[in-house]
Amino acid sequence: MNNDALAPSQRVRQIQPSPTLRVDTRAKELKAEGVDIISLGAGEPDYPAPLHVKEAAIKAVHDDISHYTAVNGFPELRRAIAAKLERDNNLKYSPDEILVSVGGKHALYNAFMALVNPGDEVIIPAPYWVSYPEQVRLAEGVPVFVETDPAAGFRLDPQALADAVTPRTKGLVLNSPNNPTGAVYSPEDLEAIAEVARAHDLWVISDEIYERLIYDGLQQVSIATFPGMWERTIVINGFSKAYALTGWRLGYAAGPQPIIKAMATLQGHVTSNAASLVQAAGIAALEGPQEPIDAMVADYAGRRQLVLSKLASMPGITCQRPGGAFYVFPDVSGLMGKTLAGRTIDSSNTLAEILLEEARVAVVPGEGFGAPGYIRISYATSREELTEALGRIAAALARIE
Ligand code: PMP
Ligand code: GLU
Repeated sequence: MNNDALAPSQRVRQIQPSPTLRVDTRAKELKAEGVDIISLGAGEPDYPAPLHVKEAAIKAVHDDISHYTAVNGFPELRRAIAAKLERDNNLKYSPDEILVSVGGKHALYNAFMALVNPGDEVIIPAPYWVSYPEQVRLAEGVPVFVETDPAAGFRLDPQALADAVTPRTKGLVLNSPNNPTGAVYSPEDLEAIAEVARAHDLWVISDEIYERLIYDGLQQVSIATFPGMWERTIVINGFSKAYALTGWRLGYAAGPQPIIKAMATLQGHVTSNAASLVQAAGIAALEGPQEPIDAMVADYAGRRQLVLSKLASMPGITCQRPGGAFYVFPDVSGLMGKTLAGRTIDSSNTLAEILLEEARVAVVPGEGFGAPGYIRISYATSREELTEALGRIAAALARIE
């Protein structure tokens, strides 16, 4: 028997399972087995879905909104998204320049598949969200990582970007607020990056899914608002974070019509439309009261402070103050080479394993984000759980020899 004949494709063999989802799945399994685990793993709001959004979904069930929709989504939803983009982001799109997909992750995948030719390079600032490189590889492109400097708040240096451009560069991924670092780009940062993108004719995939989760008076600005950028930017957003609808799977892309149309053609052969009921609820999310989001953000800001102050007292750990999203991304390289529970801490992976076993706290090791020597802690968890989890981490680390 030829084993290769029955093996999965090389395309799939070259990618790794999502480390964020792996940690989350493991934590949920252990919890289900009755182990007292606190998960600071996946970036998932602990809030319930807003009531009016739930009611809209229930109404949609009763109204028999149960058939296929247009592949690109209900026109009412695309109009609501266009209105939101204009109101919140100062971006003008017609409903035909918007594609509704099964989560922001799906919108990103559509974008890479529609943009990237085999061998094209896509620049990804590191640390990066785990799925960007894998999606670029699935599109047969080549991810090119550009390191960012913690001392510069993990924001991409425009000169480093320009230096990474080659004749094969198709574009870059920009993610502000950033997962995992929480970096928020200022208008000046964006203008400098836009200048490089214009000079080298690059696409920008601007993942703005954490736009509402922003602190310290910082403002979300989309790179697509800068001169000459709308026509070379695909804005990605979704409902998972601001509306706490992670499991409902609803996201979207906005961009120039030819590329959005190409993405819709692809989607028409892959998922067809996003779930009809969820789309109906999405309209309610955008058109309903937005104040609960502000309250949620204020709460996250307090939790961020709590985590930062607890981490500040842990030896061997240093942490930047993130401006957005709901993660802190401490540098744990000061713990490397030390021994805990009979094991040498030789990587963030090992540290995360030890914390799971010894402190029963799940965190995501930095390796999957292209940042060995770091761990990611999500603070989208109640203050009680955060306090308990950080207490457990501190107690475990106190046993370091
Ligand atoms: N982009 C970033 C940076 C993320 O952290 C996530 C996390 N889920 C997504 C996109 C995708 O979110 P979703 O598919 O749930 O909309
Ligand atoms: N984006 C979240 C995270 O980074 C959810 C899990 C995922 O889709 O990666 O944890």
